Amino acid sequence: QDAVVLDGVTKRYATGTLALDGIDLRVARGEFVCFVGASGCGKSTLLNIISNLDQATSGSVSVVGHPALMFQEHALMPWLSALDNVALPMRLAGVPKGKRLERAQALLASVHLGDIADKRPHELSGGMRQRVALARTLATEAPVLLMDEPFGALDAMTRDLLHDELESVWRARGLTVLFVTHNVREAVRLADRVILLSSRPGRVVQEYRIDVPRPRR
Ligand code: ADP
Ligand code: ADP
Repeated sequence: QDAVVLDGVTKRYATGTLALDGIDLRVARGEFVCFVGASGCGKSTLLNIISNLDQATSGSVSVVGHPALMFQEHALMPWLSALDNVALPMRLAGVPKGKRLERAQALLASVHLGDIADKRPHELSGGMRQRVALARTLATEAPVLLMDEPFGALDAMTRDLLHDELESVWRARGLTVLFVTHNVREAVRLADRVILLSSRPGRVVQEYRIDVPRPRR
């Protein structure tokens, strides 16, 4: 069974803008797919519909489990420590305190932030904050991660480190990842498959399967 299946998904906003025009998509479990395309081609709309934040005008969407979304500007709670930020989804899900703090600590360690658990977001660099956000996204235990330019605000070197960490958690957890970026280099670095969307209207114009060995650090 595929992790994500879209059949003829069309989205027309109330303004009349046709953002997606008949998108058909199948993403296998464990696959890492990147969507690239110019600004306005419908990438965010697509993720919002897959996450159920927004509804398609027509067509059908099916996703295994409840996907987790991660954005470029990930709103960490400024008054909470890194550890409590990561534990937050588990707190909302009713996981007992001891267990959620233990898991949050392990998640922070998995993105190499085990020793800054008690720091607040403002005490961390942009790269560290996005790592905390990644750990918090993983805390939801969602089988499908939807990532909308999550590293777009980071410098190239920090982004490289985050790519390595995302790749290792993706492999270790067997996640399915749908990742939006306008950076083709980033897409080729991360994806099994790169899907190119055209700007007007939102359509898949080309798909590339990446079967060359990925760059290793
Ligand atoms: P991308 O993420 O690729 O930049 P978007 O999905 O944000 O593209 O936008 C696709 C198209 O839909 C654009 O023309 C954009 O202006 C329009 N759009 C996005 N969100 C809305 C909205 N809430 N209301 C009306 N039009 C929107
Ligand atoms: P950005 O999207 O921030 O421009 P890229 O991911 O495209 O970053 O590139 C990452 C880094 O690699 C940047 O510092 C960029 O200058 C450098 N770079 C990209 N392409 C080349 C290239 N062909 N030769 C040398 N340096 C490159």
